[in-house]
Amino acid sequence: MHSVVFEKRDGRRLWLHSEQPAECVPQAEGEGAPEAFPHLRWHPLRQEWVIYAAHRGSRTYHPPPEYCPLCPTQPGGFPTEIPFSDFDVAVFENRFPSLHRQAPQPPELCVPTAQANGVCEVVVYTAQHAGSLATLSAARRELLVEVWVRRYEALYAEPQIQCVMPFENRGEEVGVTLHHPHGQIYAYPFIPPVLDAEARAFRQGPVLADLFATMGDGYVVDTQEDIVAVVPPFARFPYELWLASKEPVPGPWVFSRAQRRAFAAILGRTVARYDRLFGKPFPYVMSLHASPRGEEATFHFHVEFYPKLRSVGKLKHLAGTELGAGAFAADALPEEIAQELREVQG
Ligand SMILES: [Zn+2]
Repeated sequence: MHSVVFEKRDGRRLWLHSEQPAECVPQAEGEGAPEAFPHLRWHPLRQEWVIYAAHRGSRTYHPPPEYCPLCPTQPGGFPTEIPFSDFDVAVFENRFPSLHRQAPQPPELCVPTAQANGVCEVVVYTAQHAGSLATLSAARRELLVEVWVRRYEALYAEPQIQCVMPFENRGEEVGVTLHHPHGQIYAYPFIPPVLDAEARAFRQGPVLADLFATMGDGYVVDTQEDIVAVVPPFARFPYELWLASKEPVPGPWVFSRAQRRAFAAILGRTVARYDRLFGKPFPYVMSLHASPRGEEATFHFHVEFYPKLRSVGKLKHLAGTELGAGAFAADALPEEIAQELREVQG
């Protein structure tokens, strides 16, 4: 992988990663980012941090609707977030971050507060405006996995960062307004509740590896090398799907080359399956759960897809029991969903 780092005029950094060495000539840049003043407040009942990211100053950056801020900037054209005329995979620091390295001291309030000194980055998978994890070339998906690994390494090298999570929100149904294929990375100065609960479970024992060893083939949708895609027997969402290696690894940075290739291939086939089954770009939230800091000895890296549809044309909404009580109610059995997904071409 070839990488170039570029500092934007407003101080934000941008990395261009490519399969082959590329000539990078900067084009014109748009307006700078407004100053960020995020902070954390403690929720005493849920025992978790809430992130507040009120940005002072106006959000002046409103590209005309026909311009996508994640497309390359063409010579003499409208300046996008990426002032280069071409790239393979681009990463840049988010313009409106919820977490910021230079977050100020938090206000003193009636509840504990803390500095939101983390990092928010945007990962653009391709210079092409249309596409998805399914339509990227195999080489590009592998490059993307390598970029995630590089970001994990760089962000965990920062001592205040406790947890790094790449994710992708896809589809208008989950509130996405930019359709250019992209994801994000949040690097938190604390361990968020879901990752914290998983870390505690893995400290008790290799629960995910044990599950893979005992659950049988009925939940498996796809497999290559020792990477599997499964509908977990306890799925909370219809069409929920997890990707992982059968044996625990703390993160994809430990994968062999063959495992990385298999992981990237199954990621693409998973999204292809979803899209074929529903006959449209399938809306989902995908998150990569690698080990938070200090949990590397027991944590088992995995990817979770939370789909936003329960059948064609029917949205899955979180309502009373899910939001009010945290108890999920599902109306489809995971083993039947696994069979349905398995029968679709990936
Ligand atoms: Zn675009």
